[in-house]
Amino acid sequence: MGLEVIVYGGANEVGGNKIFISNGETSIFLDFGISFEKNSRYFGFPRPRPRSIKQLIQLGIIPKIEHLYSRGVENPEGNFDADPEPAVDAVLISHGHLDHIGYISLLSRKIRVYMGECCRHILDARRATIWHKDFTTNYDELDIAGFRSYQTLRIGSMTITPIHVDHSIPGAYGFVIDTNEGVLVYTGDLRWHGVANLTDDFVEFIANRVGDVELFITEATHVDYSGYTSEAEVENKLSDIMGTFESDVVVDFSRADFDRFCSVHRASERANRILLVDLTEWIYLNFIAKCPGLRKEIPLKNIYVYLPKVTFSRQEKLILGRLADEDPSRILVPERLESKFRRYNRNIRGYQRLNEFLEMSEKTNKRITMISPGRDIEKISRVLRRGSIFILASSEPIGEESEIEFERLRNWFEELGVPIYHVHASGHITPLDLKKMIEKIRPKNIIPVHGTRTKLLKNFVGEKEYKWILPEEGRKIVIR
Ligand SMILES: [Zn+2]
Ligand SMILES: [Zn+2]
Repeated sequence: MGLEVIVYGGANEVGGNKIFISNGETSIFLDFGISFEKNSRYFGFPRPRPRSIKQLIQLGIIPKIEHLYSRGVENPEGNFDADPEPAVDAVLISHGHLDHIGYISLLSRKIRVYMGECCRHILDARRATIWHKDFTTNYDELDIAGFRSYQTLRIGSMTITPIHVDHSIPGAYGFVIDTNEGVLVYTGDLRWHGVANLTDDFVEFIANRVGDVELFITEATHVDYSGYTSEAEVENKLSDIMGTFESDVVVDFSRADFDRFCSVHRASERANRILLVDLTEWIYLNFIAKCPGLRKEIPLKNIYVYLPKVTFSRQEKLILGRLADEDPSRILVPERLESKFRRYNRNIRGYQRLNEFLEMSEKTNKRITMISPGRDIEKISRVLRRGSIFILASSEPIGEESEIEFERLRNWFEELGVPIYHVHASGHITPLDLKKMIEKIRPKNIIPVHGTRTKLLKNFVGEKEYKWILPEEGRKIVIR
């Protein structure tokens, strides 16, 4: 029979991973993410939005597979009883980035979805802050099973061991899968130059099985063009800028990138600054704090929370209310929004005015580091003061839409007199590290995914010892 692999998403594209694996008896999906590239060909935010699962299939955004998708998620009452019996035995999620987890919302609620415990908390954080709820962002009533590192999962005739890897989000895993047609390894997204060498454990675990690895499915995001900056360097650069500069510093990075948050937080402390986060980041931090085995404690008690908006989802209200009960003076409301805030949130008293807080801190010689409320200029301009610095601590915008949005931001920054510094370390493995990893694992077959220059990787690592299979979307690959 052999091992059957179909890459439905992630072939010659960065992200959108949806990889089907079957040994004849048991079939699973590795990740079920959103392809932002495909999505943005037809849809944008807030409009136009997708209408139905059928439409997403017709546009080639998700694969056409019988009995895979939910019926209930499309009807407003959300009754999932009529969802089909699963077409696959399970879906395994490597980590919480939307390009890996985003479209589990569409799946039949009768399919079990496995993910790391921490990934689950990050999904909950996202659910708490979702503003536009439609069928694509409805994660209700999914059959989610959490796992931890090294815990073996038996799914039909496959035995799966998730092992933590280092990536730009906590709770990222690679999988080692015994399929009775040989061992398959899936990296998910990973790097080998992060804060802690979590990825060492993953490689060590596989190195014990050298010779057995039939198939290695690896990420290949930056195999053609790579940075060479570590998270420690990011922290040093941030603290240099924050220490030298005398006004507000606003830092933008991906919400769930906890390592980056820690770097910003430490740099801010080193520069004797006060840290302000917006409510969304506050919610992410509160959920991430629940992750088991987190390497650092989150200093939640020393953080102020500013509100760049005043209407909230039910969950957001709940979490804000909790903070208000604890210590309302840590809530900072911009003056311009105050009357609206009071109208919508009558029960919250004892908060501070953001503007007064900023002025006071200036007088006492305490400068501010502010975590940016995303790249939304409307929100940013509610809190940003003329003459601040904006630090882009994430990758540069990719794709037409986010490039246009970023350009717009820069135009406004010109008016506001706000320069941008780019300080970033990637969440993805460098070409040299990946070569080293492959040479250590010595797989027989390699399928590179999550990248557009997979041929370069093949030519860089060499063809002699390994059989390279460059995937095409939807094409069946049989190993052995
Ligand atoms: Zn990814
Ligand atoms: Zn990722």
